[in-house]
Amino acid sequence: MNTTIARNRFPQFAIAALAALTVGSFARTYYLKFLFGLPPLTLAAHLHGLIATTWLALHYTQARLIAAHRVALLRSWTSDLVVLADGEPADDVGDVGVDERPVASVAPGLVRFADGGELEVDALHVVAPMTPRDGLMAELGLETTDTPQGTGFAVADRFGATSVPHVFAAGDATGAGNVAAAIATGSLAATGLHRTLVAGISA
Ligand SMILES: Cc1cc2nc3c(=O)[nH]c(=O)nc-3n(C[C@H](O)[C@H](O)[C@H](O)COP(=O)(O)OP(=O)(O)OC[C@H]3O[C@@H](n4cnc5c(N)ncnc54)[C@H](O)[C@@H]3O)c2cc1C
Repeated sequence: MNTTIARNRFPQFAIAALAALTVGSFARTYYLKFLFGLPPLTLAAHLHGLIATTWLALHYTQARLIAAHRVALLRSWTSDLVVLADGEPADDVGDVGVDERPVASVAPGLVRFADGGELEVDALHVVAPMTPRDGLMAELGLETTDTPQGTGFAVADRFGATSVPHVFAAGDATGAGNVAAAIATGSLAATGLHRTLVAGISA
């Protein structure tokens, strides 16, 4: 089995930002509560905090696995795994084999390399780059950016604010790439919207 390599550390950043926001917001009343001499919490509040903290930890773990180029996940399917780097320098993927030769073509069960070599495969896992399917971002005049994960992602700050005032972006539109990151960036964008609408903070 073979896979191409994607480099995307954005989900980790998004989850880490959400975790920092959560810990910062609840530092006084929960995480560092013992420093402030506040009254004890109820059992329900402790359970709520434990579940919320565990949820963040689980999603950070998922983001780390995705950032590890999905190779670790694919190892659970087969030990017969080769990463095709397609002419790019390959990241360290542990004891998984890497073939850096540029790929010329792919046919069912067969990969042909530019140097004339061939590799028979049972399955091919391809990380497909993302790109917007409509012109909404262009129509809104948003500044966009390209990354190894795709093209035309909205440029947004950590609270989802784009280059156009009062337009916020989150999720795949900003290159999130998975549900956990989409939720995290959506939550942060909601915070950004709230800051703008209620507190008048624009960035
Ligand atoms: C085949 C596949 C498998 C996946 N598997 C996983 C997985 O196992 N785990 C994981 O974490 N992630 C997975 N993902 C990625 C995950 O689905 C996305 O990262 C996530 O859904 C992004 O959420 P989002 O809200 O940003 O966008 P979306 O879920 O795509 O929602 C955007 C919505 O906006 C609507 N829309 C678009 N343009 C307009 C417009 N102009 N006006 C009005 N509405 C509009 C769309 O119809 C859509 O309903 C998978 C994705 C695909 C394609």
